[in-house]
Amino acid sequence: MKSSFRLFRIAGIDIGIHFTWIFIFIFFSWSLAQGYFPLQYPGWSTAVYWIMGIIASLMIFVSVLLHELAHSLVAKRRGIEVKSITLFILGGVSNLEDEPGKPSAEFAMAIVGPLTSFVLALIFFGLSYIPQSSGNPGAAMLSYLALINVFLGAFNLLPGFPLDGGRVLRSIIWGSTGDLVKATNIAGIVGQVFGWLLIGVGLFFIFWVGSLFTGLWLAFIGWFLNSSADASRKEVALRERLSLIKVREMVNPNPETIGPQVTVDEMVRNIFSMRHGRAVPVCRDDKLVGIVTITDVKKIPRERWATTPVEQIMTREPLYTVSPEDNVNTAMKLLVQHDINQVLVKQDEKCAGLLSRANIINRLQFTHELGLRR
Ligand SMILES: [Zn+2]
Repeated sequence: MKSSFRLFRIAGIDIGIHFTWIFIFIFFSWSLAQGYFPLQYPGWSTAVYWIMGIIASLMIFVSVLLHELAHSLVAKRRGIEVKSITLFILGGVSNLEDEPGKPSAEFAMAIVGPLTSFVLALIFFGLSYIPQSSGNPGAAMLSYLALINVFLGAFNLLPGFPLDGGRVLRSIIWGSTGDLVKATNIAGIVGQVFGWLLIGVGLFFIFWVGSLFTGLWLAFIGWFLNSSADASRKEVALRERLSLIKVREMVNPNPETIGPQVTVDEMVRNIFSMRHGRAVPVCRDDKLVGIVTITDVKKIPRERWATTPVEQIMTREPLYTVSPEDNVNTAMKLLVQHDINQVLVKQDEKCAGLLSRANIINRLQFTHELGLRR
């Protein structure tokens, strides 16, 4: 995720924070030091309240981190690659390489987050009752942290997708019906309903209770939940549509290729300007050896086009390839994961074509316009 920076690495996972987290951190420390703690526990000095506020905010950060880490570690055990965790305003986001492929995996991954929060709540609660520490700032902070973790666990257990509880609900419906799209739709609609409810409660707080800040905060979380539920439903439906189409149905059976010795100048004239391609596979004796794109051409000055062979500017490694029998969703995943515009289609070391983002978008557009299912 952009606009975030890396803090450290745990179990091969990069832990980063979104820059907005800094403001939230300051805000939390301030509202605890000036509001919550002095109200609940009067009679201590300002410095004590500030130290409590700052430590408690740091511990909220640790709590959210442990919650996210629990999701990620279970995902890893289930064979899903986890690159990074980004902590931001509303909690955290684990950057998974893939979605869980089975309902049981999704269930385990989702439920472990809230469970971790509840376990943390129990630990903080227990610690706050150690006799020597009760009635002092340490105990006050610990019981506050117990409360926050109960809230974190409970909020995330709301059964609306994409909250953890929504994922649990989805995995149950998915497991019993075998239909991922239907399961996502139901869990997503519940998520949208919770989103609208939160917005409603937020408005109630703003206009009837007169508490602008709490109201805005609730409405914002509601809006966020609503729009991510909507986006998730659309995304899963799209993935499902793409997984019904085979790559071979979308690529030209006699693809345009060029040899490694062709000059850049020739290639630009013959391929890019005449056939409106933006990339072309490079083959030597029918064997795929690389790919050249417009981006590669831009790297060398115009004067050198006529004397530079394509093999000097082409990408050799890593070549992202799919087989004609793969489904288009597999290709789409590669495009998104590696942020590239096209994948090569390869069959028995031979080049069987190119599949670009534009091809996929065109396909979706015309099937939509003609009312076809795929
Ligand atoms: Zn979670």
